[in-house]
Amino acid sequence: MYLEMNELACACRRQWKIDVNESIDIFSLAINKIKNLTIVFKVMDNDISGACLRLDKENIIFVNSRHSKGRQAFTIAHALYHLKYDENNFNICGIDSDDETEQKADLFASCLLMPHGALETYKLNNNIQKWDLDSIIDAEQYFQISHQALLWRLRHFLNEITYEQYRAFKEDINRNASIRGYDSSLYAPYLNKDYLTIGNYIQLTEKAFENELISLGKKEELLLDAFREDIVYNLNEEIIL
Ligand SMILES: [Zn+2]
Repeated sequence: MYLEMNELACACRRQWKIDVNESIDIFSLAINKIKNLTIVFKVMDNDISGACLRLDKENIIFVNSRHSKGRQAFTIAHALYHLKYDENNFNICGIDSDDETEQKADLFASCLLMPHGALETYKLNNNIQKWDLDSIIDAEQYFQISHQALLWRLRHFLNEITYEQYRAFKEDINRNASIRGYDSSLYAPYLNKDYLTIGNYIQLTEKAFENELISLGKKEELLLDAFREDIVYNLNEEIIL
């Protein structure tokens, strides 16, 4: 199933014209490539990663806003499997599921973020004979994949680390990444917000206002419903680019 899902993930990258060895920012890429996609970050029970809903003209991915950015990237990539290849129009996704579709979606997610060939190329280019914590953290930062997802891949599908290593490497990832010079953004929630909506919904609201289909008051109400007070009250600081 691993190689089959890898092939599907690589086909998806080819369809999107993304090089198979490249590292991707799934947050912006998903919105860019999936028609009518809205991503909603909200607080959920810890054992729920997210959910996704496919409607006639809308695709919505819900993401647990309290999970790490790495895990949220995985959740979005996992949801893309449901949206693109699953017959079910609605799925709630948890952590430990034995369901075959869930396993396929997990493998697809892992391989979309880090294709098998990309990982092999990475190993070759960085002269990695055996994985240690240094090379694992470098690789997860490069691919922007969660620490857990990379360990899981190396342990269960590639058998390149032992169970003892898996257990030892799991610990204290924040500190271990920090002392190697990385910032902790991969291990903290995306943008550190409990509630946030990005993607098509925001664009539609702006367009409806521009085309005079809704009033300014209605636009603001819709944006506030989507937790976007930053747009309504112009809270984003000026940043010099
Ligand atoms: Zn799922």
